[in-house]
This record gives sequence, structure tokens and C-alpha cells, in this order.
Amino acid sequence: MRGGNPFGPRLAAFAARLARRRLDLALVLGRADVRSLTGVDCDSACLLVGPGGEAVFHTDFRYLPMVRRVAPWLKAKDIRRLSFRGRRIGYESSIQVSQLMKLRKLSPRSEFVDVAEDISALRAVKTADEIARVRAAAALNDAIWQAASRRFRAGMTELDMARAIRRMMIDRGDGEAFDTIVCVGRNAAECHHVPDGTVWDGREPVLVDMGARLGGYCSDMTRNIVPSRPSRRYAEVYRLVLEANMRAIAAVRPGISSGELDAVARGFLGKNGFRKEFGHSLGHGVGLEIHEAPYAARKRTTVLEPGMILTVEPGVYIPGELGVRVEDLVLVTDSGCEVLTRSGK
Ligand code: ZN
Ligand code: ZN
Repeated sequence: MRGGNPFGPRLAAFAARLARRRLDLALVLGRADVRSLTGVDCDSACLLVGPGGEAVFHTDFRYLPMVRRVAPWLKAKDIRRLSFRGRRIGYESSIQVSQLMKLRKLSPRSEFVDVAEDISALRAVKTADEIARVRAAAALNDAIWQAASRRFRAGMTELDMARAIRRMMIDRGDGEAFDTIVCVGRNAAECHHVPDGTVWDGREPVLVDMGARLGGYCSDMTRNIVPSRPSRRYAEVYRLVLEANMRAIAAVRPGISSGELDAVARGFLGKNGFRKEFGHSLGHGVGLEIHEAPYAARKRTTVLEPGMILTVEPGVYIPGELGVRVEDLVLVTDSGCEVLTRSGK
């Protein structure tokens, strides 16, 4: 490792893990993984990392000038010259089978060992610069929600609303971190509803799940337009989901496991009669990718640490009737958490 890499400490920590696992080398191919260790965003890269921290960035020759310009501290080589040797070689399980076959051919006698978990565990704890970027992406998301939802009118379709949000994300950031979800009325009962031509009558509830990307980093939030005169059932479900969200946020602190955190919201909703209706996990990490470690789900044992960023998104879905989810992005701090999402709920 050379000086200058803002991700140097993470690269060094990764190398230390390789040494502990007695690996001679690791090959990192995932775009976000490569960026998380070097700061270089390149869709054609193979980063070689040794247990002593040495790193060689292999890429298509067309990208070499860019890599050398943005990361002069990094040793960069033409990917056609990729060669490596080692008895035990780390790779990520997310790579394509065809890529793994090619790598195996380059070193037929090596044992290939999956190191995906090692990288994702390191990526789960954000650097100060990454925290600033996610915070900025969340602030942009809040601003877009405010501007877009103010323009929502009766007669608009889900697609109209989703497109309005998407346009603002393109104009003011790097676009969407994922396809914006807009659900009118009972469409919200389906948690992965794709926005369609359903028209909003101005009185039904609307669920919007959106995330602006900025500076390469994602944000994620779900808000609901609650009608001024909701049905009793909707009002009751909304109140419970909001309370589950706030109870879980209050429980976020270093030392709690992500599974225990999930149980806070799940236990509360279950006690109030909505055990089955909360059918997904409580949350996920957010960073270069919209879904990354840590995952807050049943039986997960990841212990939260300061610097982790994750969503808290309990929901209740009653088929054919209604759906409510309230999602905030939180940063684990030394004493608890900071809620990065500021939109009212
Ligand atoms: Zn979301
Ligand atoms: Zn989410």
C-alpha cells in the first residue's frame, strides 16, 4: 500500500484478514468492492491484494490513464497482463462463474477461498468521507421528497409521481439508487409493487420508497402520504408502524446485534397483532450499494459498531387492503445513533 489512498486503512485491514486466513493473495472484481478499497470507480477492474497490503490494480488499457490520474499512488497494470500465483487465493463469491473459471485457468493448482464476507464486513463500517457522502445523499433525498410531493395532485398516476422524483434525482444528483417505488392505496400491500398507471384520487394513502444517489453513495427512505381522514384501520396500522420504527431507532447503539434490533420492531408489531404482516427484515446497510452489510434480520448476529449506516424500515402489509412502511437511514454513533433522514413522518 502507498500513501495517499483515502481507503488505505480499509485496504490494510483487508490485508490483515488475508494474512489471518493464511491467504497468499485475493482477487477483488466487484465494482463497489474495488472502489471501497481504492476509491477508484471502474467497471472493468481486478484488484490484487496481498497479505502484506500490496495492491495492484489491473484494468482495461482504455481506463489506465484515468486510474493513474485519480489514484497516482496505486500500481496500475493492463489487465491483459494479469498473472498471479499462490497456494490459497481469495475471491468474492459474487463474481460470475465464467470469471472464476478464467481465474482458475490462470492458476490451476490454487485453492480458491471466498472472501466476500471479509470485504463486506469492512465496508459496513464507513469512513468519515463515506459518512459525509451518505449524509449528503440523504439530505438531497429529503429535499427531493419535499419538492416532489408538494406537486403531487389528484389525477396523477404512480408512474407520473415516480418519474417526477426520478427526474429531480438525475438533475440534482447521480440519479436513483434504485427504482423509485410509488404505491397508491391498496397497491402498497405488495411490498415490491412496480409503479403503474394507477391514478391517485387525492384521498387514498400513497407510499413512496425512494433513494437519491450522490457522489457515488446511496440513500433510502420510505414515506407515506397519510390522508386527512384515513380509515380507522389505516390510522391504527400507521401509528403502530411508526412506533415500531421509533422504538427500533431508539434501540440502535453499538453492541446491540442486528438480529436483536430486528426483534425490537418485530416483537412490538407481533404483540399488536401484526406478526405475519411484517414479512421482510427490518433493515439493511447502505453505502456504495443500496443493499449491503449490515443486515438487520432475524437470527443475524452482526454486532453494530459506530460508523455503520443502516435502514430501519418496519412495515405492515394487509393483502388487498393496505400497506404501510416507514423507513429511515441511521448512522450508528458512539452512544446511539444519528437519524440521517430528516423528512417528517
Ligand atoms: Zn427503501
Ligand atoms: Zn431499504
